[in-house]
Amino acid sequence: MDKDKLDKARLKLLDEIRAEARATKNFTGRAEYSDAVMQAMARVPRHEFVGPGNEASAYVNRPLPIGHGQTISQPYIVAVMTDLLDLQPGARVLEIGTGCGYQSAVLAEAGARVYTLETVRKLADSATARLKRLGYDTVQVRFGDGYEGWPEQAPFDAIIVTAAPETIPPALTRQLKPGGRIVIPVGPAYSTQFLKVGVKDSNGKMHYASTLPVAFVPMLGKHAGKVS
Ligand code: SAH
Repeated sequence: MDKDKLDKARLKLLDEIRAEARATKNFTGRAEYSDAVMQAMARVPRHEFVGPGNEASAYVNRPLPIGHGQTISQPYIVAVMTDLLDLQPGARVLEIGTGCGYQSAVLAEAGARVYTLETVRKLADSATARLKRLGYDTVQVRFGDGYEGWPEQAPFDAIIVTAAPETIPPALTRQLKPGGRIVIPVGPAYSTQFLKVGVKDSNGKMHYASTLPVAFVPMLGKHAGKVS
């Protein structure tokens, strides 16, 4: 596809995200997302992330398969999750579930320093190469199980989890700064999960709100399905 067509498709996608933001206001409490988030969505070339053969549907508002039984998240979900993080410029953000690196790129475009963990080695390797090629040098990718977070880089201003555990991994909330936010889908594998937003208060206590029903791939790893 030529550049013009891709640019047009990306603008149409932004309109769809705005419409879906209005339609889901009762779940999220937000009828629109910040300019920083919408500009980040406008800048990231999603067609570079979807893999060969999928370019034509890169700007359709849907998740797509990326191999290894995994997906690239739906653009609207990437937008709403990024918005719910309430990022300040230069925020240190931990992401669990790099996949192809699309959400990481959106976070970087929104001004974050991104630390992202991926448990499938081939995906971690290809996301590292892709993000480097596209110039996203504020993103660090590491191969590993996100259940334990990234203690060497903690604490974080925000944590975003893009695979669903059954319960919230305790290491993640420990690695949040006071005032920090976590956005995480929680619930059983291959069933309805809820996107939760947690805020850590100045005493270190977490306060959660449930937002949208969502369908994420399950969080993998030895602890993911266990009650903590
Ligand atoms: N953030 C991605 C979404 C990827 S899908 C995007 O922008 O499109 C979820 C990813 O989480 C998959 O690649 C999967 O391999 C990864 N994952 C699942 N369990 C994980 C775990 N315990 N630690 C790190 N990554 C995990």
